[in-house]
Amino acid sequence: MIPLPFNLEPIDEDNYLISNFSGFYSFIGATDLQSLIDLGYASNKKMAELEDKLFISNQEDYTTKAALLTSAVSKKIKEALSFNPIFMIVPTLRCDHTCKYCQVSRASVKANGYDLEESEIGDYILLMKRISTPPFKIEVQGGEPLIRFDLIQKIYQKAAIELGEEAFQIIITSSLSLIDDDIIEWCSSRNVSFSVSLDGDQFVHDSNRILPGDSSYKRAISSIKKLTDSLGRHRVSTVTTVTRKLVENPESLLKAHEEIGIYDLFVRPVSHYGFADSIFKDSYEFDEYKLFYTRLFNLILARRKRGIHFVEHSAAIHMKRIQTPNFNSYADLKSPAGIIFNALILNYDGNLYGSDETRMLQREIQLDLSCGDSQRFLASQNQYYAATIASSFNIVKPGCDHCVYQPYCGSDPCQNISEFGDPIGETPLSSFCQYHKMMFKFIFTELYKSEEGKEMLEEWVNA
Ligand code: SF4
Ligand code: SF4
Repeated sequence: MIPLPFNLEPIDEDNYLISNFSGFYSFIGATDLQSLIDLGYASNKKMAELEDKLFISNQEDYTTKAALLTSAVSKKIKEALSFNPIFMIVPTLRCDHTCKYCQVSRASVKANGYDLEESEIGDYILLMKRISTPPFKIEVQGGEPLIRFDLIQKIYQKAAIELGEEAFQIIITSSLSLIDDDIIEWCSSRNVSFSVSLDGDQFVHDSNRILPGDSSYKRAISSIKKLTDSLGRHRVSTVTTVTRKLVENPESLLKAHEEIGIYDLFVRPVSHYGFADSIFKDSYEFDEYKLFYTRLFNLILARRKRGIHFVEHSAAIHMKRIQTPNFNSYADLKSPAGIIFNALILNYDGNLYGSDETRMLQREIQLDLSCGDSQRFLASQNQYYAATIASSFNIVKPGCDHCVYQPYCGSDPCQNISEFGDPIGETPLSSFCQYHKMMFKFIFTELYKSEEGKEMLEEWVNA
């Protein structure tokens, strides 16, 4: 037998996780691993599995199996390069909040010059129609987009005329501080849903999400309740940015969600992009995030035993990448990166960007990172795009090429520019690597050691 290429990492003192380019993985004891490397053999009960998963081959099949591995890599790359963007629109950069970790350098509510011209909307919808195919997903971002609800209505009207009402959905990302009965009524008969920030209980949420003169938490909770009563739970989702206050108190996140009857979480660490990194000093180390996530996971497991089923979608996405290495729908976890291929954003100033992170980076480094405007998609004319995408194939990236998580992980050249000044960066030191390595290691450890944890993670993949 001959070993085929694979990467490895200890999962505990005596056992290793191994993976290969095609995305197969296995857990193997240290003795078997040594024998596999030296002789191409392992104990009898492992041999069939290792052969099926392309870790070893006999002499006669070697060329075929090596070809199977390389064709799996080509297929993965081809699928990651398919153009299937979420279309994002920023109707205004103005916002009524002053969140401590804000990434977008929002403008004050009364500021001038931070709103999208209405005339850009029709052109952008036509551009969407030219360069992509239905179903279209339109995400409305901010600032606080409800400040210009009139523009959101225009987006809907233009899209209904040009794309057809059945061909698109709109997701409004909002703090919900400005929502009222008229807005809810308008949304009720249309394919419009909401993505709302919820960072924990009132103390945790209001410590960082600042709404001058009021409680951001109280507004969010009462508005979510109104929305779920009127539109149904399926039309509201939450996003949680983990702050130091939440790291210390994961239970508060579950309690806040129980209060609104939403059992789906999407939990992510505080971002290191641009504006956020320059002013948000109340951060934490990834070791602390790991402790937080472990406690949160165990709290969810304990509730599951009592029949209360939470789903944490960030882990679910990591699981989908492990179980289906060709799963490429999540822009932040793919290789090559999802810039352009998974996102196209029309900014309030009429410029197009290939990702939300790119628009934030542009404000940080003061270089033109746009890829056209509402009428013209010109990604090929800005070197930034070719350079970042070319730098984001993790299979050949220093540090990632020998990493056991490489087939499932992604690449974030934009964040590398923000942290290191170039799109490749220093992988082990990057916050992208530290976060995703932690998540993959956590998940594989659960898959290896805990029947209960494994069962719950597998449920989450299909949730
Ligand atoms: S994070 Fe969102 S809600 Fe908070 S200040 Fe920034 S744009 Fe406004
Ligand atoms: S970014 Fe880190 S975890 Fe991901 S493949 Fe590269 S080295 Fe591994």
